[in-house]
Amino acid sequence: MSIFDRREFLRLGAACGALLSRAAGSQGVPAPPVSRVPVKNRKNLVGIQVRGFSWVDEGVEEVLDNIQEKGDVNTVWAYTFSYGEQRLEKNGPVPLPDHGKPGSTIAGGAFYAYDRKYFENTILRDFRCKVYGDFNVIEAVASKAKARGMSFFAWDLNNAGPTLNETIPNYAEVAEVDVYGRRTNRPCFNHPDYRAFLSGKVESLLLGYPSEIDGIAWGSERMGPLQNLIGGITTPSCFCGFCQRRARALGISVGRAQAGYRELEALFQAAARNERPNDGYFVSFWRLLLKYPEILSWESLWTDSFQEVQAQLYGMAKAIAPAKPFGFHIMQTATFSPFYRAEEDYAKRRNFADFLKLATYNTAGGARLAKYLRRLSETVFHDATPPEFLNFYYKMMDYNEAPYDQLASTGLSADYVARQTRQALEGVGGEVQIYPGIDINVPTLLKGDAVEKQSSPATIRAAIEAAFGAGADGVVLAREYAEMQLSNLSAAGDTLREVFARTRA
Ligand SMILES: [Zn+2]
Repeated sequence: MSIFDRREFLRLGAACGALLSRAAGSQGVPAPPVSRVPVKNRKNLVGIQVRGFSWVDEGVEEVLDNIQEKGDVNTVWAYTFSYGEQRLEKNGPVPLPDHGKPGSTIAGGAFYAYDRKYFENTILRDFRCKVYGDFNVIEAVASKAKARGMSFFAWDLNNAGPTLNETIPNYAEVAEVDVYGRRTNRPCFNHPDYRAFLSGKVESLLLGYPSEIDGIAWGSERMGPLQNLIGGITTPSCFCGFCQRRARALGISVGRAQAGYRELEALFQAAARNERPNDGYFVSFWRLLLKYPEILSWESLWTDSFQEVQAQLYGMAKAIAPAKPFGFHIMQTATFSPFYRAEEDYAKRRNFADFLKLATYNTAGGARLAKYLRRLSETVFHDATPPEFLNFYYKMMDYNEAPYDQLASTGLSADYVARQTRQALEGVGGEVQIYPGIDINVPTLLKGDAVEKQSSPATIRAAIEAAFGAGADGVVLAREYAEMQLSNLSAAGDTLREVFARTRA
């Protein structure tokens, strides 16, 4: 079956339940859009991501007061699972705003109680976070939110990180294996136990809390081996037994892929030492792709597996609760990296998403983009410096932003939000709702840069106007309630009320 065929997901999802996650997929092409069950998405959804500790520290009603009255939020995105969340510290890299409590404990795992019957197919069964005692975010928040007319979404964020290796028994066993045979701390999307764990979570939410959960937002900020090398982030993976088996079934040589990735890593290491090959860095990069097309094959294998898992989760969710929105977070790299963007094709998402939240964080985006451009200049574009290729990059990405040396202090414009919103809307052809993320005190975590642009009522107002001006179906105030100054949250709410009043008028 095609991995992007919605009808097949529904049929399989209904038939197989948790076993769906073990079903072997195959490489597929996008199927033509099919008619879908109407989803009860709100018009003008206004979401906000809320960490577990915010409820615990500030009180459920107090947080709901703030986000509803100040932020005009109508949909709570409550973390039901975190790969490792941490309170902010007064003088930490992300400063504590004018609410909340400081702290340094890391909390990872599920913030809700689940029935173990959904996890019989996986070695990952004990993942309840104990850091907040018996706190169950669904029981604590959902009914209170609904009593105020708000919706309650489970926000299931599955980034990689070291915390879960330590807190979830067997988690290290599902980890990716890098090109040198070493275990990483990133779970493998082809490992059947990890797939069963992810699908079990969706089941445990929708079947375990049928009247509490109004929708699910799913996220995982992950990239394939080529992206990770270009971004200078990690060694290439995954080369575990499951990925190798899948590659062989597709006729991809494991040995040649490994050899290609080792040579590519050696090229980027030479770039780090400024040892320019005779024909230059980019020509040498391209020559390696010609010599080892397996480099691209393995990147596609990784990306197809990643997206196949998301499609299967979507199919399962639709089989259980067809009218409840199930959508995805798209990380900001999709707006920075032409390589990642090629893989994150919005047209494909028509078949397995009800909504997309785009991480269009424009204020922090200046410093973040500057950092990404430096990475490009350290690896694949080492023939030039960021200022030298910036104009070409802007043309390629259709941006009109600040000069390189002013990016961090200027931030990205509201026009960036508008362009990304329009591109996404065009890509999904009206079949998936598009919710740009509105930057409210999103941290950049870049130290030593020039003064970085900070969120203000003016930047927030401009971003919201840009999003709705471009036709957005809603917005998600981002990143975290815990990071936001309340005056900025109020600026968002004031703007939203004005925008909605105008559209009603
Ligand atoms: Zn693997």
